[in-house]
Amino acid sequence: MSSMNNKLQDKLQDKLQDKFKITLILLLSNLRLPIVMMKLDRPIILIVDDLKANRLALVRLLRHVEADLIEAEDGQEALAKAISLPNLSLILLDVQMPVMDGYETAELLREEPQTLNIPIIFITAVHRDEQHILKGYSSGAIDYITKPIQPEILTAKISLFMVLWRLKNGLELEVKARIDLEEKNLYLAYHDLLTGLPNRRQLVIDIEKAAFRADRQGSEFALLFVDLDGFKAVNDSLGHKIGDQVLKTIAERFEYLVRKTDTVARYGGDEFIILLTDVNNAQHLTGRINEVLLSAHKPMKFQHEEIQLSASIGVCVYPDQIDNPDKLIDFADIAMYKAKSQGRNSFCFFSEEMDAAAHKRQQVEQQLRLAIQKQEMEVYFQPIVEVKTADVYGAEALLRWNNKELGMIPPDYFIPIAEANGSIHDIGAWVLDSAITQLEEIRSQFKQVPKLKLVVAINASTLQFKNADLYHQVKDKIDSGIIKAEDLEIEITESLLLEDSEEINRHLKSMSDLGIHLSVDDFGTGYSALSYLKRCPINTVKIDRSFVSGVPDDKEDMVLIRAIIAMAHGLGLKVIAEGIETKAQWQYLQQEGCDYAQGYYFSRPLPYNDFKKWLSDKLDSEKAPK
Ligand code: C2E
Ligand code: CA
Ligand code: CA
Repeated sequence: MSSMNNKLQDKLQDKLQDKFKITLILLLSNLRLPIVMMKLDRPIILIVDDLKANRLALVRLLRHVEADLIEAEDGQEALAKAISLPNLSLILLDVQMPVMDGYETAELLREEPQTLNIPIIFITAVHRDEQHILKGYSSGAIDYITKPIQPEILTAKISLFMVLWRLKNGLELEVKARIDLEEKNLYLAYHDLLTGLPNRRQLVIDIEKAAFRADRQGSEFALLFVDLDGFKAVNDSLGHKIGDQVLKTIAERFEYLVRKTDTVARYGGDEFIILLTDVNNAQHLTGRINEVLLSAHKPMKFQHEEIQLSASIGVCVYPDQIDNPDKLIDFADIAMYKAKSQGRNSFCFFSEEMDAAAHKRQQVEQQLRLAIQKQEMEVYFQPIVEVKTADVYGAEALLRWNNKELGMIPPDYFIPIAEANGSIHDIGAWVLDSAITQLEEIRSQFKQVPKLKLVVAINASTLQFKNADLYHQVKDKIDSGIIKAEDLEIEITESLLLEDSEEINRHLKSMSDLGIHLSVDDFGTGYSALSYLKRCPINTVKIDRSFVSGVPDDKEDMVLIRAIIAMAHGLGLKVIAEGIETKAQWQYLQQEGCDYAQGYYFSRPLPYNDFKKWLSDKLDSEKAPK
């Protein structure tokens, strides 16, 4: 009987162990995981017996097994402990116990999810018959050991279980770590790290979903391309840490504004995209866009710095304006640029004309990169005359671009594009070189004319002051004797002065130290405070054409011209008036004591040869007896 018992036991045990091993191997091969043991906790064995002597005997027997041993003196205590021990790897269970016997205890253990899979070994001195042994196995045991126990066999079996437990536990930890990592990677793939908002990838998915829903329900949704105004300045002046805080704050504010079905995504640096669902009412949509504008404009405070930004928003409505979800972002982006150019803190709806304009801009941008190389650029000269004497003072170099495909493109249009794509540096250098060379050629041709003044005025973009290239170029021309410093004037914009950065002021100072003249172009259109003019080494201001065109009808313009001239003279600066088209304007400027004048009244900007002819005719007419 006992040998039969043993055989049955062995068979069942082998089967169970094999099954366990096979499961493990399958798991490993499926996952292709290296069997790396992660930091393993120590397994726990629970010894359940109502007799203390029996428990002690087992503890002693198992003292060399790599596990912590914990005791319980009845079924109830065993259940309570089994549930609370996370590393429980094996239960040694006495069959015969008062109140709740081993079988009942095992059945209850099998009912709890936490203890369902913990192996149980029954130990008994009494119930050795086949019926009891089978009962033991059917109540969930993996082994049924009858006393007297053979210590080597029991410790060997238990040690094997511990090895298997470790293996399984390690594997589970590894799998969990992998799942965690995958979840994290998945999160990162679809979210922005800084703000935690959905990123572009997630946004594209959300747009597709929203389009699908809108198509099905016959509803509309709006896409808002939100670009922060002035964020770059915050980043540059207060550092990236504060910049990051600003972005986080804005992200939180935007998220607070939207509904569950909406999306706020971070699209790039300081660009956010907000997808507003169910916006069938234009008035309601406008209200919500205004809320976004307001929330971006609310001041924020970091480290005693109060920061107030604003946003420019481009809006595109699906499917009302565009029924292609792939183009929504691009079109909202185009509308955003329009909003920005209209003067920040505003929004703009996309329109078909904007698309055409954006397309043209793209073409211009492509062609612009090759314009110099293809010799499509030309410098025109517009004379500047001295008001008192009507003598020539010099000429402003004005760039012209004639492209085979696009035709004549005005500088007002392509210069900002050149600034945006960086080609302004090459273009600016080319203008300086060409204008100086050509004007010096003209000067040498008229060297017989005594005291001919021929200053060349060249427009410089703000960007050309961001590095020292322009300074070195100018210095080169002067050092190599190509032009005298006093014959060169650089026209800068009011916005350059407004930036008031140390770097820019240094460049201005070193240019001025070379002896060239600096003039402020389009004066009066920006916000030039007098203090800038006092602080910077400026020689001349150019009164903007928009004031001159008001003469003689607009009294306010005339008062302003008078004030600018008086103020400039008070600061020791000369004044050039631009855009003189009529005799009345010319006379008014003479009367107000303006120093120099420029405009169609004298001549339009002319190509090299025409300018030379204009100059020659003028000099001839002055020589001719009156
Ligand atoms: P700006 O520097 O204010 O140049 C004066 C503009 O007024 C020129 O336009 C000129 O042709 C125009 N103008 C001159 N007199 C009159 C007049 O009596 N009536 C009218 N209606 N217009 C007059 P243009 O050549 O189209 O240049 C536009 C702007 O493009 C310039 O404004 C300047 O800001 C920029 N620009 C031109 N060439 C260059 C360049 O080489 N570099 C840079 N950075 N900007 C340039
Ligand atoms: Ca100018
Ligand atoms: Ca101007």
